[in-house]
Amino acid sequence: MGAMRREWRGASGRALLAAFVVVASIAALPSASTGMAAVKITIDTVALELPISVSGASQDASWRAIVTLQTATGTTVRRWAAPVTPVSWSARFPLGDLHSGEYRAIVVASDGVSSVTGHSGWIIVRRPAVAQVVQSVKHAGRHVALTFDDGLDPAAADRIFATLRTTHTPATLFLNASAYRRSPRLVRAVQRLLRSGLVTLGNHTADHTWLTRVSSASIRWQIRSDERYTQRTFGRSSLPFFRPPYGAWNARVRRIAGELGYTDFVLWSVDPSDYRAPPPTRVIASAMAQVSPGGIILMHVNATTASTLPTILRRLHARGYAVVPLWTLLHPQETVKKGP
Ligand SMILES: [Zn+2]
Repeated sequence: MGAMRREWRGASGRALLAAFVVVASIAALPSASTGMAAVKITIDTVALELPISVSGASQDASWRAIVTLQTATGTTVRRWAAPVTPVSWSARFPLGDLHSGEYRAIVVASDGVSSVTGHSGWIIVRRPAVAQVVQSVKHAGRHVALTFDDGLDPAAADRIFATLRTTHTPATLFLNASAYRRSPRLVRAVQRLLRSGLVTLGNHTADHTWLTRVSSASIRWQIRSDERYTQRTFGRSSLPFFRPPYGAWNARVRRIAGELGYTDFVLWSVDPSDYRAPPPTRVIASAMAQVSPGGIILMHVNATTASTLPTILRRLHARGYAVVPLWTLLHPQETVKKGP
């Protein structure tokens, strides 16, 4: 079998109830074998399934395909092997119990000699459920998650994001649309960081509103509007992570967040009060004094955090902590181990 030319052409949507298409074509030389794999993905929140069809032609090999479903930070949550023999198949994979969130389907098709890989666009799954309120996670071992709220200082964002990239540290950004609208520079910094695959976005309301003081209709509008902004600006979703501004919440806020698909109601266990701009040494000491296994660390996109983050990360590692994606910390049972 000769060398393979590989080509993927993809088109994707990003809204709920949209269709996603990934097309792969394989041309094997010099045997004239050609093939095409198409992935069509339609998600709705009632009958949740992942329909995939692959078709093509190959004279001298049978194909196999591995389909995985991954979160934005690369955690595999579903994995299926499908034979592609002779060269065409279609299947519908059940996703009925899939958690709210943002996923990509990745298809690796192989004929035993070469393989091609392709992925879908972002699949946004919104499933109403009772939101779990979480400050920290029990039995997580020495794992912690980093979260950054707001976004009032683009220069600080550049420094914080550079630290995340150079240390390969995953994080979640809880953004509010009104702060980002004021700063195209901040938007560009987040777009760059999103491409690194290190971060996920979370919902922090459109206007950083004190939700216990407003009507239910306002709560809904604040959450939905922030998500609309996130989808329009970044082509991404903040599902399933929600954090109420000021940590101000009650049963009504929690119920509405769950109804809108925000099933992870994310508070925190470590708050070094970086938003008060204390001396950097105090922020570092405070963070390290509060940290414990399974902890969620709350920080803000500001100058104090930019200057203390490298030291905090070094000290966490020195004490045996690993910083993991928020998804991984909150949903360890959803992680699929790598197969053969
Ligand atoms: Zn905030």
